[in-house]
Amino acid sequence: DGVDIEYRSGFGTKPVRAVRGVSLQIARGEVVGLVGESGSGKSTIGRAIGGLETVAAGRLEVLGAELRGLPRRRLRELRRRIGFVFQDPAASFNSFMTIEDCVIEPMRIHRVPGGRSAHRARAAELLDAVELPGSYARRYPFELSGGQRQRVGLARALALDPELVIADEPTSALDVSVQARVLDIFTSLQRELGFAALFISHDLAVVELLADRVGVLQGGELVELGATEQVLHAPQHPYTQQLIAAVP
Ligand code: ATP
Ligand code: MG
Repeated sequence: DGVDIEYRSGFGTKPVRAVRGVSLQIARGEVVGLVGESGSGKSTIGRAIGGLETVAAGRLEVLGAELRGLPRRRLRELRRRIGFVFQDPAASFNSFMTIEDCVIEPMRIHRVPGGRSAHRARAAELLDAVELPGSYARRYPFELSGGQRQRVGLARALALDPELVIADEPTSALDVSVQARVLDIFTSLQRELGFAALFISHDLAVVELLADRVGVLQGGELVELGATEQVLHAPQHPYTQQLIAAVP
């Protein structure tokens, strides 16, 4: 009994099932890659786990809580324990804030104890970890390259020490060498901090680098789920086989 998610494109229109019967568990500290072509439902699943979509049917349990019917306040508490990284970092932070304030903002909103000085110290640590040390803190997002901006997005996503990170194509807009650097940083932070992650990508080579397990979505259904090694090198489902054959 997996999860269904529906979209209604207008009032009174018939809902469209974007995700059907998806059953997927992410263990503590585990990295699960989610691949599939455009429109297959990857982002919808990521948003649903973050409590940003309404589940039409099935149980969706996140960090020990069933999302359906969860009171707003509990949902807010839950979201605090989840970090999001998006393809476009500008979607998650204000371009008129300094890099440091972009990272501090979640701590301020959620009133992390210690006040401004503690927040600044934590932001400096995180910016160091994403290799943007020292004076980068005082710069603005538009003064950085795409890869550097995405590293700020990662530092911000980690600001509240999340147990789960949802990364939705965080490197898809970057060129290959920059992508590799961001993925390296992501992997070493994941190992150090131990958060679980759902890493969404249309690129099999990317998930191969960092996922413990991989799920393959086709038209809203999870057609394959297994250890990365197995899914990429001994795929069972014809659709996965086709995806892998298509990689040059
Ligand atoms: P991409 O690789 O292009 O990001 P995706 O796998 O992330 O694709 P989703 O964005 O999850 O795909 O979309 C899944 C399906 O749900 C698509 O058919 C899409 O058109 C539909 N959909 C997504 N968001 C909405 C929405 N807010 N309203 C209506 N339909 C939506
Ligand atoms: Mg998407």
